[in-house]
Amino acid sequence: MTKHVLSKSTFMYGCQCPKRLFLYKFKPSLRNPEDEGQQAIFAAGTNVGLLAQSLFPGGVDASPPDTFSYQKSVEKTRKLIEAGATVIYEAAFQFEEVLCALDILVRKKNKWYAFEVKGSVSVRPQYIQDASLQYHVITNSGLKLEDISIVYLNNQYERQGDLDIKQLFNTDSILGEVLEQQPFISDKIVELKVMLTLKKEPVMDIGPHCSDPYTCNFTNHCWKDFPTENNIFSLSRGPGWELYEEGFKHLDDIPQDYALSPKAAMQLNHYRTGEIFIDEKAIKGFLSEFQYPLYFFDFETIMPAVPEFDHSRPYQQLPFQFSLHIKRKPGAALEHYSFLGDGITDPREALIKEMIKLLGSKGSIIGWNASFEKTCIKKLILDFPKYEKQLSSINERWIDLMKPFQSRWYYHPDFKGSASIKNVLPVMVPDLSYEDLDIQEGGTASLVYAQLKDQDVATQAIQRNQLLEYCKLDTMAMVRILENLEELIRSK
Ligand code: SF4
Repeated sequence: MTKHVLSKSTFMYGCQCPKRLFLYKFKPSLRNPEDEGQQAIFAAGTNVGLLAQSLFPGGVDASPPDTFSYQKSVEKTRKLIEAGATVIYEAAFQFEEVLCALDILVRKKNKWYAFEVKGSVSVRPQYIQDASLQYHVITNSGLKLEDISIVYLNNQYERQGDLDIKQLFNTDSILGEVLEQQPFISDKIVELKVMLTLKKEPVMDIGPHCSDPYTCNFTNHCWKDFPTENNIFSLSRGPGWELYEEGFKHLDDIPQDYALSPKAAMQLNHYRTGEIFIDEKAIKGFLSEFQYPLYFFDFETIMPAVPEFDHSRPYQQLPFQFSLHIKRKPGAALEHYSFLGDGITDPREALIKEMIKLLGSKGSIIGWNASFEKTCIKKLILDFPKYEKQLSSINERWIDLMKPFQSRWYYHPDFKGSASIKNVLPVMVPDLSYEDLDIQEGGTASLVYAQLKDQDVATQAIQRNQLLEYCKLDTMAMVRILENLEELIRSK
């Protein structure tokens, strides 16, 4: 059997952007380096795929011995079908040099049913497109499909005891949509094959397709001439691609009289003048809300695709860590406390108990984007109702320190339109920085925690320390930003 020219993945690259397919085939060295986050997402998807096989137990795996031997897999699938197999995992087919592998192929009463597994909680349009390619290849290879379905995670399923695989997954038939897509699929295959035969690089400008439906992995190459700082996309609530289509890339390119939203116009104005804006009255009003003791609090969370613990659902935000700085009265020494789960067991109940003990019953609890913490606590109340009274009372005491920055009562051009603590801190407190830390943002913290149980003891100790340091800086940053804000108003 000849080697394939297109696979399901490369077909999808071509649908997103023909240049992505061209670069993948002929200039792979231009690809962005892979990051750990992408690898973790891929690994999570593989785990979900393996779990879904239990919906149809007893199947035979037709996976190839390596990624270069898919034609062996096609041959194995053919033989398994001929030998009367009823369930085949990773069944592979090839038609006119287009290859596809299907997660699960099932024979019932001599009719064939195709199932493609996705690690998300809904059926997205791109899933219909790649299943349509599978349908095209499988049926044209001579296997009539009675139905084709997407198997995906059910975010309403709450784990209680052992995983209930049937409840964990939803299965939706998409046969109707797939049949509608067939003419498009045939035409697209021809178009992409011609492009690959001619080996002529398609002329494609950057655009929304660079991140939709997937983030392209050639952005370092295609975006290399686009300004990394102060570009049109840095305008908060700005028109984005509309500006690009009019020929603008940098903030300096935008004409003075260009109509923008009030937030974007303010940002652009301060970028041009370099001036700081302070609404003294609004900030004074905000600062008057604070009541001692002050509790500066921050959660870190993980979102496991498959619920690991009782009373949790797919992709639920599970707090595993917090940092807390306490200032009991003006001028008092700062106290610091932290909690970090063990990386193995459910951290939530121990975390709740520690929070309740440390946060007391009065005083302001200060967060950055505090609605996130409040939402996490509401979920904790649902899952651990015996703590409802104390947790509800905690949830009434929040003050969001992001508010003066988000509302632009204080705006500095170096915030670059963002109220993220990562943008505000270097301006407000230049001597405090995330740059010296091994973990510098929440996504990495989640990843490190999720992988903690697989590390050796020495690495675990190092990484636990890194997690504690990172979360501690988040709350220390709030302490210093509030101090600076108070100082700023005092000096007026
Ligand atoms: S970065 Fe954008 S233009 Fe370049 S290959 Fe990817 S999708 Fe196409």
